[in-house]
Amino acid sequence: FVNNTEEFFTFCEENDVQFVDFRFTDIKGTWHHVTYRMSAVNAGQLNNGLPFDGSSIDAWQPINKSDMLLKPEVETAFLDPFTADPTIIVFCDVYDIYKNQAYERCPRSIAKATLAHADSLGIADTAYFGPENEFFMFDSITFVDNINEAGYKIDTEEGEWNSNNPYPDMYNTGHRPGTKGGYFPVAPTDSAVDIRAEMMQVLEQVGLEVILGHHEVAQGQHEIGIVFSDMIGAADNVQKYKYVIKMIAHLNGKTATFMPKPMFGDNGNGMHVHQSLWKDGKNLFYKQGNYANVSEMGINYIGGIFKHARSVAAFTNPSTNSYKRLLPGFEAPSVLTYSSQNRSASCRIPYGAGEMATRVEMRFPDSSACPYLAFAVMMMAGLDGIQNKEIPIGPMDEDLYELSLDEIREKGIPQMPHTLRGSLEALFRDNDYLKPVFTDEFLEAYRHYRFERDVWPDEGRPTAYEFKTTYQC
Ligand code: GLN
Ligand code: MG
Ligand code: MG
Ligand code: MG
Repeated sequence: FVNNTEEFFTFCEENDVQFVDFRFTDIKGTWHHVTYRMSAVNAGQLNNGLPFDGSSIDAWQPINKSDMLLKPEVETAFLDPFTADPTIIVFCDVYDIYKNQAYERCPRSIAKATLAHADSLGIADTAYFGPENEFFMFDSITFVDNINEAGYKIDTEEGEWNSNNPYPDMYNTGHRPGTKGGYFPVAPTDSAVDIRAEMMQVLEQVGLEVILGHHEVAQGQHEIGIVFSDMIGAADNVQKYKYVIKMIAHLNGKTATFMPKPMFGDNGNGMHVHQSLWKDGKNLFYKQGNYANVSEMGINYIGGIFKHARSVAAFTNPSTNSYKRLLPGFEAPSVLTYSSQNRSASCRIPYGAGEMATRVEMRFPDSSACPYLAFAVMMMAGLDGIQNKEIPIGPMDEDLYELSLDEIREKGIPQMPHTLRGSLEALFRDNDYLKPVFTDEFLEAYRHYRFERDVWPDEGRPTAYEFKTTYQC
């Protein structure tokens, strides 16, 4: 862990580093890398940037303007725990040499610009984010054998159960968690104790501060709790976290997935995001005596996110699968209201958190999001809410899953969109709040990419379930 270029080279020498792995994130959140021989890396490159082909990354540059630069941030350097030879990983921003500025489609640069925007408004100089990324671990052999185009029939890490099996009693599954039975009996029901322990240790090795790990509610579902961080650090941590989780699962003959809803009828994977804004060392979301000790500014921040939630979702819930998770009954929200303690609300204000820890927890995002874009978009919506003093509907402390659609409509509570198409169409109508940071050009490219890659191919595919409802028509 280094503070500048000089220390970077000293660290590399001390650790006999053979390769430098430069990493950057595309608009869908995929982490990419290019590996340099240590001997080919010098200070000039680290300061000025390294060239790469920006035309081969989804929705980035056209072929005739493909040269881009990676701008490394040496302060983010850490040793790759998985390579045979000592390799150091460095987070990079992407730089546009044609416009001579940060690339407008680089998520990490967009997140930085969002922070700068909050500062320039005079609202906040710091934003803390605490994402919670849930995941499933499946047996990779059965996973490969049993998955088909429609995503049916995958076995969990626990082995014998599958969602397509009409006779679960035929197997001796007494020692396995049933549907929603994973939270959280001890071993042998929980069969991943050692793998999670390994994950937690390696996460610490790469610089994440680990609090706890546990089996989650669904069969084969897990979560490891990480300490919050500043906005960019927290998004960087999501990239590290996913890398470590997937690698450790892989090295143990398993496969990990952050897919929002891999199993029909059981809980899905969320990426709850805890957030607070700070200025001059003070938590702007804290006010003692208010409901859940949350300040007016905190409430307005929620109000802004809810007001724009339908278009925010285009970034926080950017896959067609995302919307299969946001159904009542699985601890994932769809109703846009807030509450202290209530896990059926889209926003929870953790109870009794005190001055340093009072924050809002947005519960609708999932890990198919690019963390940089998801955090940036929520913050832009929240800042808009602060500027316009938006008041969200709430607090509502009842079980919101019990509300009928009629009651939801009567009370005028907005809901999350039900499809990715719905979110992308909302983004088309509602994007002024993003304009101070996001360019029209980027928003258009993003929307188009999501339609072309996710919405249209999905809408055009008959699903396995449609065969059940329609085959005999
Ligand atoms: N898995 C749930 C979701 O989809 C969350 C469960 C929990 O962490 N309490 O958001
Ligand atoms: Mg959690
Ligand atoms: Mg959880
Ligand atoms: Mg949570």
